[in-house]
Amino acid sequence: MAKNKIHEVVKYPDPVLAKPGAPVTVFDAKLKTLVDEMFESMYAAQGIGLAAPQISISQRLTVIDCSFKKNPEEKIVLINPEIIDREGKQVEEEGCLSLPDIREKVQRAAWVKVKAQNVDGEWFEVEGEELLARAMQHEIDHLDGILFIDRLSRLKRDLVLRKIKKMQKNGEW
Ligand SMILES: [Zn+2]
Repeated sequence: MAKNKIHEVVKYPDPVLAKPGAPVTVFDAKLKTLVDEMFESMYAAQGIGLAAPQISISQRLTVIDCSFKKNPEEKIVLINPEIIDREGKQVEEEGCLSLPDIREKVQRAAWVKVKAQNVDGEWFEVEGEELLARAMQHEIDHLDGILFIDRLSRLKRDLVLRKIKKMQKNGEW
């Protein structure tokens, strides 16, 4: 069996991260391979969520595994996902593979219900709270061209952007 490709995760300010992804319309073997590659790329980058735009593929597709390989049942593939219900709020620290070393508290819904398609194109619903709710909201944001720093206050966001500029200057980004 051919080894799956590990895709490079692009960093802010790559323009692909700010662009809404196109809907996935073809559910074929290529898509299944891409999903496998996304899980492997996510694990290689030590993440629990990865959206296709983060590997320069501007499509509405994301993978999540809050257990980080421990529980296969927690592997979630969301294709063309939509948040159809949300409740409550949670404020926790968040990070992103496209924003290495940046961690800030972000307000999210405490619980969400998401409607999405699987790799075969079948629609299903998934509910999650706490970390899973946060991960789904974060990843679906990526599909709309939104990063978690866009959810911070203007002041906090400016501070983060200044930090990134400094790291870029020092060759650390
Ligand atoms: Zn992210």
